[in-house]
Amino acid sequence: MKKAGEVPDRRRRRARATGSAAVCRPDRIASDLLAWYARGRRDLPWRRSQDPYRVWVSEIMLQQTQVERVREFFVRFVDRFPTVESLAAAAEHQVLRLWEGLGYYRRARQLHAAAGLLVAEHGGHIPRDVAGLRGLPGIGRYTAAAIASIAFDLPEPIVEANSRRVIARLAGHAARLDGPGGDEPIWTIAATLVPRRQPGRFNQALMDLGALVCLPDRPLCGSCPLASHCVARLSGRTAEIPAKGSRPKVAQLHETAAVIHRAGRVLVVCRRPGEWWEGLWDFPRLPGSGRAAARGIAAAEAFRPLACGPVRRLGTINHTVTHHRIRLDVVSCAAARPGRTARGRRWVTVAALEQLAMTAPGRKIARMLSG
Ligand code: SF4
Repeated sequence: MKKAGEVPDRRRRRARATGSAAVCRPDRIASDLLAWYARGRRDLPWRRSQDPYRVWVSEIMLQQTQVERVREFFVRFVDRFPTVESLAAAAEHQVLRLWEGLGYYRRARQLHAAAGLLVAEHGGHIPRDVAGLRGLPGIGRYTAAAIASIAFDLPEPIVEANSRRVIARLAGHAARLDGPGGDEPIWTIAATLVPRRQPGRFNQALMDLGALVCLPDRPLCGSCPLASHCVARLSGRTAEIPAKGSRPKVAQLHETAAVIHRAGRVLVVCRRPGEWWEGLWDFPRLPGSGRAAARGIAAAEAFRPLACGPVRRLGTINHTVTHHRIRLDVVSCAAARPGRTARGRRWVTVAALEQLAMTAPGRKIARMLSG
């Protein structure tokens, strides 16, 4: 006798035989998924309206960032900059300060630049089609389709981490998805799935299904509204699909940050183009650990005119950034002279650090200093 949730052998064999990059009955899939979404969708602050500006900001924040992390940042951001015009009128450092802690700061700079462009060239209106959206800084294929479908009800397919997994399993697409063009078959299938009615809700439902039910390691097929359509489940291959690539190795880095102080102020430097945290403020750093590296800072050409005194150890900070684990020794030393004035370096009070957009480790050091 067949147990509840068990797939009959006949259907399993048929799924194995036919399961290749195709789905049957997209209309049924859409209606089953939308019915589930109406009951089980996540309550997220950017879903409370279809305002294109809010949809756009949320989609940029969600790039490479977990939903739970984005929640509070999104609310604060749209509270401070509620419209395209208000964002365009802000100074870049204000936008970066509000973005601080969310990471991938290029997104914030591009969002700000795009807002300026929209005000200057589009009367502050967000384009209503994918081609227009893709003309804006920071908006690629996925983001354009997400905005077009969610804000403007256009039947545009989306593929991101969660929906990619759901679609691959649904269609039994067993090939690797990483590497150039690996996603292309998934985009093709997604285009056949997205309905003309409620495409935005459908796309969001796919993402929710991936986040809540079709989990990477142990999909909850018994609770899945698409279980009867899913080739991976019917053919017993949910563990194999999508095919997993090798995980990038995490590299260990050891650096030293120097808190150089003089006359009640500390020296901060702006991270240069091409560096991590480009455009954010930080304490001067050198590779290597502790006192040796700090002596290196004192001796470096840029800092020699400061005539730094002996170094004192303040502590250690650990931080992870894109597959790098950084161990950061923090030392302090006094400067006898202020050195030359230069763009990209400032002497500021510890209290004034609160106003600067800082790197995540720089902010941790600032908190260490303010006690
Ligand atoms: S049946 Fe299982 S594998 Fe298929 S979409 Fe649903 S949760 Fe994912």
